[in-house]
Amino acid sequence: MLFDDLPEARETIASVLVPVAVPEPYTYRVPAGAHVVPGSIVRVPLGTREVTGAVWDTQPDAAINPRKLKEILHVHDAPPLNDELRRFIDWVAGWTLAAPGMVLRMVLRSEDALEPEPPVPGLQRVLDRSPDRMTPARARVLATAADGLAWTRSGLAATAGVSTSVIDGLAEQGVFEPVFMTATPLPLPPDPAFNPPQLTPTQAGVAEALVANFDRGGVVALIDGVTGSGKTEVYFEAVAEALRRGRQAVILVPEIGLTEQFLRRFETRFGVPPAEWHSEITPKKRARVWRGVASGEVQVVVGARSALFLPFSRLGLIVVDEEHDTAFKQDDRVSYNARDMAVVRGHLARIPVVLASATPSVESRVNADLGRYQRHVLPERASGASLPDLAVIDMRTEGPERGRWIAPGLVSAIRETFAQKGQSLLFLNRRGYAPLTLCRSCGHRFQCSQCSAWLVEHRMKGKLVCHHCGHTEAIPRACPACGTQDALVACGPGVERVAEEVEGLFPDARVLVLSSDLLGGPDRLRREMKLVEEGGADIVIGTQLVAKGHNFPLMKLVGVIDADLGLAHGDPRAAERTFQLLAQVTGRAGRITGGGRGLLQSYSPDHPVLKALLSSDREAFYRAEIEARRAAGLPPFGRLAALVISGPEKAATEAYARAVSRVAPADRAVTILGPAEAALAMVRGRHRYRLLAMAPRQVDLQGYLRHWMTLAPPARGGLKLQIDIDPQQFL
Ligand code: ADP
Ligand code: ZN
Repeated sequence: MLFDDLPEARETIASVLVPVAVPEPYTYRVPAGAHVVPGSIVRVPLGTREVTGAVWDTQPDAAINPRKLKEILHVHDAPPLNDELRRFIDWVAGWTLAAPGMVLRMVLRSEDALEPEPPVPGLQRVLDRSPDRMTPARARVLATAADGLAWTRSGLAATAGVSTSVIDGLAEQGVFEPVFMTATPLPLPPDPAFNPPQLTPTQAGVAEALVANFDRGGVVALIDGVTGSGKTEVYFEAVAEALRRGRQAVILVPEIGLTEQFLRRFETRFGVPPAEWHSEITPKKRARVWRGVASGEVQVVVGARSALFLPFSRLGLIVVDEEHDTAFKQDDRVSYNARDMAVVRGHLARIPVVLASATPSVESRVNADLGRYQRHVLPERASGASLPDLAVIDMRTEGPERGRWIAPGLVSAIRETFAQKGQSLLFLNRRGYAPLTLCRSCGHRFQCSQCSAWLVEHRMKGKLVCHHCGHTEAIPRACPACGTQDALVACGPGVERVAEEVEGLFPDARVLVLSSDLLGGPDRLRREMKLVEEGGADIVIGTQLVAKGHNFPLMKLVGVIDADLGLAHGDPRAAERTFQLLAQVTGRAGRITGGGRGLLQSYSPDHPVLKALLSSDREAFYRAEIEARRAAGLPPFGRLAALVISGPEKAATEAYARAVSRVAPADRAVTILGPAEAALAMVRGRHRYRLLAMAPRQVDLQGYLRHWMTLAPPARGGLKLQIDIDPQQFL
């Protein structure tokens, strides 16, 4: 609202949450004539800066003389953040131990959205004016504009097939007059009745339960369905119900799951594509979605984890697809897990939440077993296709010769598949050509100067790349240590190297590498995914991004180059992650027609994770994993928090980590491990130490940490202490 909308001038104060790391809102004077309500988005002075914040309270009980306060500078013309969202912000801050202002900052991620879009300059035909002389180009323009509507200069030129100078010439003669047009209107709303699918009886039963949840407050439903069982189709029915009730829905997907394919499927079901929200959209689109969500005009958003923080005015449903995926965890600034926070937002808003996965997280499985979540099982593929046949290739006895990475057994499976015009996918979760480069003459290894990590050779780019800080350098001809020419050897495989081997073995096949770092960015990736879907490649070599949710109808064979890769980590979730990744990636095979095969290359074929996969006994895996977590007091039976301490200097960082650890409050329920040097001991030139706090589930670990932090010495001299509640990364 504008300042002069209100007739009566009163002297009032308001507390405003500002987007910086302070514990509390600050109090400001509301200028005479201005009107604010809780949630109003305002511009305020902060030190020497101006920042955008949100009114948190219009009646703070501060016994302050308003005249001593700084004044709110501007009240933005945007809908105020509603009560539910403000409670959510406070809750997330309390849980993650982040400052509430830092959470608010995630909500106010679109500066452009805070004021209405400015009108666009346009041209309108002045009907009683004609040009001095007519040309074919001019005639086309006049015919195009004969409708009397306003056009943009470039839009009219493009539609009439002329250059803009023709338009300018006509405007000069008064044939067109300048006008202002409102910015592009929002697209049509999705239609729940547009194209409903014929669900199988099992699917229909689950869809019915999801619809019934709309009358039951904040219920969480876990759809636990094998790959290709129609989870998407089923939760679309919940989206349809939200639409029928005039409510908004948000579907969270791992960033890379936002494919062309997903958008098309949505459009097929609802008649129009959904609004998108992720890191790649333009600021203008971002602003439109933000405003549309706040005004209620945008009804369905499909987005990455940050979409959970959009200011929905009538949110009625939250879906988290591939709920087990680690991409939902954000580790920088505010560290939160969007899947867990989705459950919280649903609870605060009293709306249903749907979690979907073929390989649910152990956390969600336990919540379902304890009756906190509903669990709906889809045990079969919708097409009736069988799940892929899986087998292990024992690399100790059946492996390839030295310097090669594809075992003969896998080579012949690819050959058979290729001969039958089926697609094969080779999965290796390693970007680049080789994970390590060394000098044959002196043994020198190429390491990042800023990180404790090897440089990864990317042969297509001709570069050595650090996967932790992004540092790149040219591949030198001579070893920088001993000067020997042409003595560098690549050790171990990355996807590029496997592709090279495939090209040698199958010169006639169309080979495609799918990896997130390829030149051309997300657009190219979307195109290439589509190409694979349409059969434009025979053998695909991919990193984990191919494992996620895609439907490649012609994919018959999935070969896992290194099934042991994820198991070596000292991470409590290593087994779970490996199980999920391998089940997902092999689940790409034979989704529609069945007859899919999965071959897993492993040096430890007797590992319980591989055994569980091969026997298709998921339940046995979950039972064993849940028992192991319970016995060790690990999540979800215990709570974990990591303290990551970093600094520019090793000794000072270690000393600080020790000082923090020494003042940890004594509490029998809480165990503190460390400080220990992190596995990634240095990143971007900063040395890293870690502490881990462990407690049983019923302990208020956040309360304990808050108390601890009041005792900890301040972090000075470039030192930093970050708290990560429920860490997913242990590096
Ligand atoms: P999931 O999300 O469980 O992996 P999808 O929803 O992607 O499964 O479904 C897999 C494939 O089966 C898709 O091509 C989908 O359109 C199709 N499908 C699912 N359910 C049905 C159904 N009831 N009738 C026809 N096709 C279906
Ligand atoms: Zn680095």
